[in-house]
Order: sequence, then structure tokens, then C-alpha cells
Amino acid sequence: MAVPILHKRKLIPGRVSELVLEAPQIAAKAEPGNFIILRLADDGERIPLTIADTDAAKGTITLVYLVVGKSTAHLETFEAGDTILDVCGPLGRPTHIEPVGTVLCVGGGTGIAAMHHIAKGHQLAGNHVVSVIGARSEDLLLFEKELTAISAEVLVATDDGSRGHKGLVTEVLEQRIQQGIEAGESIGEIVAVGPVPMMRAVAELTRPYGIKTTVSLNSIMVDGIGMCGSCRVTVGDAVRFACVDGPEFDAHQVDFEEMMRRQCTFSEQEKLSYDHFCR
Ligand code: NAD
Repeated sequence: MAVPILHKRKLIPGRVSELVLEAPQIAAKAEPGNFIILRLADDGERIPLTIADTDAAKGTITLVYLVVGKSTAHLETFEAGDTILDVCGPLGRPTHIEPVGTVLCVGGGTGIAAMHHIAKGHQLAGNHVVSVIGARSEDLLLFEKELTAISAEVLVATDDGSRGHKGLVTEVLEQRIQQGIEAGESIGEIVAVGPVPMMRAVAELTRPYGIKTTVSLNSIMVDGIGMCGSCRVTVGDAVRFACVDGPEFDAHQVDFEEMMRRQCTFSEQEKLSYDHFCR
């Protein structure tokens, strides 16, 4: 069924956009951590995108995407009033949310928007949400206003120092963990969404502290319902499918090295396809 685009907001022109889709059935069921897969054409790629927000009353879902290749460049040509061929979801297991006290929600780059839905779930569960967000520069910081509305604290890092702490988001995270420990605060969980190297760095940082840490994995995905195996990741001793077993996993058990190798599997074909589309 064709899905109408109600609003489009260019968050970072040419690089990151937000779409609000009229998808009442998905909006009624979607929970934090879920994703959708959309198609723009019958022979088009299936694009998995984490749901950044929902409004069940209005029947809408919000998606945020980074223009990285042919399919997202094609998506970027769509405007409000256009329709998307089909949207399948909600997919994946929702985030496990329970009252645990303080939760540090870490977002890097476009992962900040996906992290927002999880942070909102923790806030609704009564947790003390600390959002820790990082981007290369101030103009690339997403969803700060939305996170400020639902977080007890928002801590910011930029690589170039144009806003907040100058450095990586993990440096701010470490400072906040230390502060919490000195104040006798119990940190119930840390959730991280963003580039794989960032999620791996978060996992390595939190491991010695023994704090439960969850990552949302954006592995290569095709069908999204557990049939193709493209999204497989090693978690502990098991091979898991990010689409049906995840996308969230215990960060301390994920084999990030393998995941990063698998992310590059189709780099050459992706570049050829993108160059062909741009011609
Ligand atoms: P980016 O490369 O600009 O990085 C954003 C921030 O992450 C940096 O400013 C830094 O603070 C931190 N970071 C990056 N590498 C780090 C490292 N090695 N150690 C510590 N911190 C590090 O991000 P981008 O270009 O916006 O890319 C966002 C990524 O997030 C994409 O790869 C996208 O696929 C992914 N993503 C994932 C999900 C998901 O659900 N898992 C959702 C949306 C986006």
C-alpha cells in the first residue's frame, strides 16, 4: 500500500532529512527500537530505517535518514505529497524498557534520531534519562530540541568543538559515568546508537564498569524478517539475526570486528550503483 509523505524537513541539507509518513497501522503498534523497511520502486532496494518517533493519535511515524548511497539519494528526491511504494513494519524486537533509575542514552551523528525514540521510552517508564550526543560539528547535531524535552540532562560533544565538549561523545560519556560514581548514583543502563566504531568504543568504555550496555546494530539487511541471513552478527557464542533477534544486543557480547568487516561487503557495488544514479 502506498504510504503518503506528510512532511519533509531537511535537517542537514543534502545529507540528512526527516520524513513524517502517514502510517496509522505502524504508528499504533511501533515501540522504541523497532524499524521499518521501505521500497521506492518494484525493483528497488529494501531500505531499513529505525523509527525515530511515532504519534499513534495522528497515525504518523517519523524517519530520519543519512544520504549514503543510491537508494537514500533516490529517497532524498521525494517531497511532502509524494508517496512511498510500500513500508513494512514495525520490525525487530522493541527495546527492553523497565524502571532502572538512571539511563545514559548515547547517540552519534544520525544515530541520535534513532536513539531519541528509545530515550523517550525510558522517560515514559520513569527513568532519569541523560542524553549524551555527539557529531562532527554543531550544524550536524540532530534532535537536540526533541531530546531536551524528554531528558533530565543533555550533554553535547562535537569533534571540532563548535558546541559543547571538544572531542568524541565517548569522552563526555566517561566524564558523566565518573561523576555518577563519585555521587553514588547507580546507572541502570547505557544505550548507544550510531556509527559502529562509536558503539564499539562505548562497549569497551563501559565494560570495566560492569554497566549493562545495549547497542542498536545497523547491519546489512535485505528481507528484515529472518529469511536471508544478511544481517547476521556474532553475539557471544551465537550467530544472531539483527532483524528478528535484534536490532538491540548486549554491547559487551557483540563481535564488532566481524560486523565492521561485513559492513564493507558490498562497498564496491554500492559505489558503482551510486555513481550510476548520479549520472
Ligand atoms: P559520524 O561518523 O559523524 O560520527 C558521529 C559521532 O560519533 C562523532 O562526532 C563522535 O562523537 C562519535 N564517534 C564516531 N566514531 C567514534 C569512535 N571511533 N569512538 C568514539 N566515538 C565516535 O556519524 P554519521 O556520519 O552521522 O553516521 C552515523 C552512523 O549511525 C551511520 O553509520 C548510520 O548507519 C548509523 N545509524 C545507526 C542506526 C541504528 O539504528 N543502529 C540508526 C541511524 C544511524
